[in-house]
Amino acid sequence: MNPGRLSKLYPAFHRMQDLCFFDDLECHFQSHPQYACLRQYLDLPSFHLRFPDNRVLYTRLLDTLLDILDIAHTNSSCYKELSPLYQLVDKIDPYYFTEGHISQEIIKCYTLESQQQKQLLRFATTFFHTIRQFSPFVEVSGQQKVLAWDAWYAVFPRGYAWEVVRVLQDLGIGVAASWHGARAWSRFTHGKLIELENIHLDWHSRCETWGKREKQPVVYPDLLAHAFANQLSHLGINGFCGDTPNCYECPLASSCNWNQGFDQNEEKVLITESDLEAIPIAIQKQYIDDIPISALIAWVFSLEGADAKVIEEKFSQKNSLRLMDQKTVYELSQLLPHVPYFGEKMKALLEVCKRYSEDTLIPGDQFSCSKDIFAHFRFRLRDLKQELFILVLLDNKHQYLTDVLITKGTLNKSLVHPREVYSTAIENRAAAIVCVHNHPSGDPKASTDDIQITHRLKEVGTVVGIPLLDHIIIGNDRYFSLADQGLL
Ligand code: SF4
Repeated sequence: MNPGRLSKLYPAFHRMQDLCFFDDLECHFQSHPQYACLRQYLDLPSFHLRFPDNRVLYTRLLDTLLDILDIAHTNSSCYKELSPLYQLVDKIDPYYFTEGHISQEIIKCYTLESQQQKQLLRFATTFFHTIRQFSPFVEVSGQQKVLAWDAWYAVFPRGYAWEVVRVLQDLGIGVAASWHGARAWSRFTHGKLIELENIHLDWHSRCETWGKREKQPVVYPDLLAHAFANQLSHLGINGFCGDTPNCYECPLASSCNWNQGFDQNEEKVLITESDLEAIPIAIQKQYIDDIPISALIAWVFSLEGADAKVIEEKFSQKNSLRLMDQKTVYELSQLLPHVPYFGEKMKALLEVCKRYSEDTLIPGDQFSCSKDIFAHFRFRLRDLKQELFILVLLDNKHQYLTDVLITKGTLNKSLVHPREVYSTAIENRAAAIVCVHNHPSGDPKASTDDIQITHRLKEVGTVVGIPLLDHIIIGNDRYFSLADQGLL
């Protein structure tokens, strides 16, 4: 820990509580997690920002301006007809350019319509005037600088301000008025988000008030919030509360009003399909358990209105996910035929659900009992409408090697022949085997045929020296082990 940095940062945090946004900071600050937050900052390198040279910066700002005016798109500096405009950037001199000079250059941009030229003249004049009137950077301390708020805010029309912020952030420039920082602090201290349209004015004025009183640049509290919001990670400064907060792992969770629920008496809202917009908030606030499956699916697939209604109907029954999993991709796609790849994506989602619950064996795992095999195949086989006969191959220590599908269809003596089973076992150099099959009826109890074929397999296994350790039948989340039942 660097005590020098502590002395610089503590007053900064301490004073931030004076701002309306930080009313609640005092109590959090004194508590351990908040202190951890501060320590995290202390371990950071100082706010060391990378600056592009002025030409790169001005060119990118001009690109953005032209894009906003719908005059040119990305990388417009390559547009030959606009080159006079970009040459102005090279020639910026506080005493040299007048509006007339700019106008002369804009007229040379021959592909622009006169209306566009007028518009551009107005903005370009403000742009160059602003650049020469303000120093685009202000000092934070020593070598650390950030772009002055006014230098860009005066140029770009309100509403586009955030776009410009993004451009500057791409260039690695810390910018006062970070909406990420404002949002993160608001979430942390007040347990709610503030409206984006109003953030820039509100937040800036608060930072400015604080800055004036403390004779600190306006950007300083903003930078702290910016770091807290994990917006300086490209500089190796890791904050806690990103744009999508990871509350599950956040060390501040216990003192965060967002995570705790600002109003402890606030009732959890039951989210339905019509509240799709509320779902991300509910997930962040860890109310995910309360969200119906159908609403989650509708949100993941961006479904609204009638489409969301279809999903609500289909997924409101008991065991709906399992029922849906029994459908083919085509049948699933017919639920919402106009949604591209709905069947495929739904199938993929269901597969993820299934695999999450699986407790599968991997090569080298010791086979110890029938339960291991059941856990391995449980979700794969339990709802199948078709019988599968699978061979589990083990090594001489009875460790799992792999499993191989032997037959599909109705199990009978002719379908599973010991020759197929043991040729596969020999081919894979197995030292022992376990057979597995499913009963689509759901009743896992062994039939007479099952018992007979097991005996034949066992006899052949004894002859070839690859013992059959068990034959397990799976049906509707239950299993039947012939070894456990003394039938082997
Ligand atoms: S608990 Fe969540 S919302 Fe609160 S500070 Fe941490 S990440 Fe941000």
